[in-house]
Amino acid sequence: MSDVQILESVQQFMARQHGHFIHAEHVSAESAERIELVNPATEQVVASIVSGSLGDVEKAVNSAYDAFQHAWANTSPYERGLKLNKLADLVEEHAEELAQLETLTTGKLINISRHLEAAQTAVFLRYFAGWATKINGQTMQPSIPSMNGEKYTACTMRQPVGVVAGIVPWNFALMIGAWKIGSALTTGCTIVLKPSEFAALSLLRLAELAIEAGIPAGVINVVTGKGDTGQHLINSLLVKKVSFTGSVPTGIAIGKQAMVSDLTRVSLELGGKNAAAILEDANLDEILPALLQATFVHQGQVCAAPERFFVHQSKYDELINKAAGAIQHLKIGSPMDESSMFGPLSNKPHFEKVKHYLNLAQQNNQVITGGKVLNGTGYFVEPTLLKVSGVDDPLFIEETFGPVVDVIPFESDEELLEMMNHSRFGLTASIWTNDLSKALRLIPQIEAGSVWVNMHTFLDPSVPFGGVKASGLGREFSDAFIDDYTELKSVMIRY
Ligand code: NAD
Repeated sequence: MSDVQILESVQQFMARQHGHFIHAEHVSAESAERIELVNPATEQVVASIVSGSLGDVEKAVNSAYDAFQHAWANTSPYERGLKLNKLADLVEEHAEELAQLETLTTGKLINISRHLEAAQTAVFLRYFAGWATKINGQTMQPSIPSMNGEKYTACTMRQPVGVVAGIVPWNFALMIGAWKIGSALTTGCTIVLKPSEFAALSLLRLAELAIEAGIPAGVINVVTGKGDTGQHLINSLLVKKVSFTGSVPTGIAIGKQAMVSDLTRVSLELGGKNAAAILEDANLDEILPALLQATFVHQGQVCAAPERFFVHQSKYDELINKAAGAIQHLKIGSPMDESSMFGPLSNKPHFEKVKHYLNLAQQNNQVITGGKVLNGTGYFVEPTLLKVSGVDDPLFIEETFGPVVDVIPFESDEELLEMMNHSRFGLTASIWTNDLSKALRLIPQIEAGSVWVNMHTFLDPSVPFGGVKASGLGREFSDAFIDDYTELKSVMIRY
């Protein structure tokens, strides 16, 4: 097979001199500094973006504030839902274009960019669109003593917090950006997005599509740049909420900065060192295809994906043999080739980070299968299974955010739980078994925001998502996001 043809529209979009997208216009940056975007499969520069200064960020925040006070405030909840649905229509119409932009800048397999990134972006936008008309307060009956026959009633109303700063990582730039857009717009907020410096094109394009969808100027703005651009956003006193998705160290720094800035609300969706527990009764032939797909999708660069397999001692050898066999058959190749099953890591710094962990494993003789960096062009490494030396091994403790998985035997449920929970992270976990009774006993004892049974890494907008411990603060999706994007106002009336 060969690479799919790059669309003319994608070539033209990549060749543009991109600036920021503010108030429905392409705005040049104050600084002439440009950040090059590199195709991780070819190591060639494919586009460039600008670096947002304080002045650029102020323009974007002012535009979002103006739209919050006027254009978006004058739009009814029903209209907001319609416009988000229209944006979802346009995402579907432009799915191939958006998918190619993602693949050419992040190395995501083209089929994953199409069927997961672009398609799910539309699904999530539609889900949030449905909430616009359903954000309600409550009525209460106060028990205040009545001296002269007066009565009391009370209610709450939910009001949008205002301008939201959405800071987005590179691994699912479009979809995670759309989660933040959907949450903000459906509650009546406006947004300034700061995409990752490695993957900004698809969100710049989405912001243009939003104008086509009838979303007023200033409701969605995009300012590109690195961490310093994000910091300017958080420091703005007009920003009333920061929604951040990214790594734990950055998340902690952002959380502190938001508190110091103006007690700004912050939600943090951070990293994980997620565990999959394969119990004694699991049928490995049945579960392995789903487990391995959940683990190695997008080369393991998925916050929810497992990096630690805990396998009952009786199944350890069988799992290693069968999983190693399956992994070796994954066809590694160009992400633009539809027949490839495994692509490159998304960018050079991340490639260097994963290489460091692979070298560590090689030095200590811990590799079960894989473990090598591929010679030649592109940031390719092999999908890898490892042994660990114990719970203090850095390979057991640290998030690699790559296709690097520890396989660890256990004998008892107590030992399993102790090792699973031996982590500062607590994002996701899974249990693979037909013994539902045992699964239901284990679930409450697992320290993770999401636990799956016989599945892993699946997100759905109807199910809340977020981490415990150092994996985050707050929840996305379902009705759980509403608290984060609205102020609850209490009203009491005497009559
Ligand atoms: P990162 O923390 O390096 O960067 C994320 C974003 O923050 C980027 O846009 C970056 O420019 C910006 N940023 C960096 N420093 C900043 C600062 N001081 N102030 C403001 N903004 C700043 O993360 P990454 O490498 O882009 O993404 C990978 C990480 O994201 C992994 O740890 C992964 O687990 C996590 N992640 C979590 C989820 C989730 O939902 N929990 C989803 C995807 C990725």
